[in-house]
Amino acid sequence: MEKSKLFKEMIETNTRTASSPSELRITDLRVANINGAPKHCPLIKIYTNQGIVGYGEVRDASSATYALMLKSRIIGENPLNVDKLFRRIKQFGGHSRQGGGVSGIEIALWDIVGKAYGVPLYQLLGGKFRDKIRVYCDTDVDGKHTGTDMGKALKKRMEAGFTFLKMDLGIELMIDEPGCLNAPLGFLEDIKKYSMKAITHQHGSVDMDMMLGKNYEVFTIPHHATGIHVTEKGIDYLENYVKEVRSVIGYEVPLAIDHLGHIHINDCIAIAKRLEKYNIAWLEDVAPWHYTEHYVKISNATTIPICTGEDIYLHENYEPLMASGGVSVVHPDMLTVGGALEMKKLGDMCEKYGVAMAIHMAESPIACMAAVHTAAAIQNILALEYHSVDCPWWNDLAIGIANPLIKDGFIDVPDAPGLGIDHLNEELISEHMHTKYPDKWADSSAWDKEWANDREWS
Ligand SMILES: [Mg+2]
Repeated sequence: MEKSKLFKEMIETNTRTASSPSELRITDLRVANINGAPKHCPLIKIYTNQGIVGYGEVRDASSATYALMLKSRIIGENPLNVDKLFRRIKQFGGHSRQGGGVSGIEIALWDIVGKAYGVPLYQLLGGKFRDKIRVYCDTDVDGKHTGTDMGKALKKRMEAGFTFLKMDLGIELMIDEPGCLNAPLGFLEDIKKYSMKAITHQHGSVDMDMMLGKNYEVFTIPHHATGIHVTEKGIDYLENYVKEVRSVIGYEVPLAIDHLGHIHINDCIAIAKRLEKYNIAWLEDVAPWHYTEHYVKISNATTIPICTGEDIYLHENYEPLMASGGVSVVHPDMLTVGGALEMKKLGDMCEKYGVAMAIHMAESPIACMAAVHTAAAIQNILALEYHSVDCPWWNDLAIGIANPLIKDGFIDVPDAPGLGIDHLNEELISEHMHTKYPDKWADSSAWDKEWANDREWS
């Protein structure tokens, strides 16, 4: 090795680069879009003048633009002032994926703070309530299948150590069963033709083609407006499916249900009533989350706990649902809610209203570790979602975290600084770059001039 290079390396390894927190400044923000982990994940790096790099992530199936458009608002700032910077960029976040830029940057800032002071994120949030986080495992069975098939798939999760389960129970299960669904004639065919992902979007990522033309039109019809109803035979079908599942996995393990399909709240109520005897942990996203009255209606009509939240930005936007008794469980995503501090505030709001919390997570190890630390710092938490059991390279994306990360259905809360990730596996990231966005950590100076009068009042 040439002498000067050796000298440079020696300096880099032996210098405490984080020795001057008050002089720390953000110098750059860059992104890399990977795919299949299990979905499209836009990863973020925030660079500083002292060599510390913070890792963040925009939400699954989202756009890196949501983060890049904020770059000019944080460049030159001290990244340790997390709340100050969050309040600077908060107005540019929105519900669902639009919350991903603000949230992903917030997480990357915390990672920098942790690395600068040598403390784990949970400590920065006030310390931890527990040493390990229960993980619940989402389970899919592809194609036409029975409740017994699903039961066997869930049983495998239990054998792998998982102590909390979730499955989809959607109308797509019976879309080809005669007499189970009724809808304006031709509409179910439209769904199959243009928007099958609208009712089976757990499988893989939602891609750009879903967001165009007739696909978009069909994909975005809300539950109450599809005109799809479930017949008595359809309800029998779903009940029998769940009965078969329970006969394989038993009644002792919690089983949550997601993705009923875009059907009217009254149909959801009829189904929920039938499923009560199968001890369902929660029924998720039975209506678009902002229809508080729909949630109140179903919560008052069934003993099954009702849950929503993965698409709600900022903790205060959960309050109408909680205060009205519309939800028994909330299910926020770190990368939509606004990041770690908003999640912590939401946890406190759950205590105020007596609502349980689980965490939605379908992203890379960056979001996962942010969720692990934050879940540790929240007083009560049911479980953290995990979508990547069947993605063999997911764990290897982050170097420095436990591998395997999940042991017997739990993740240990690490004590390493920040998120607990030493560095990212750049080679692996290169292998899994999204084909539509192949540039990894590319120059983002085009965003340096992004500007507007950001004051929201005159
Ligand atoms: Mg969900």
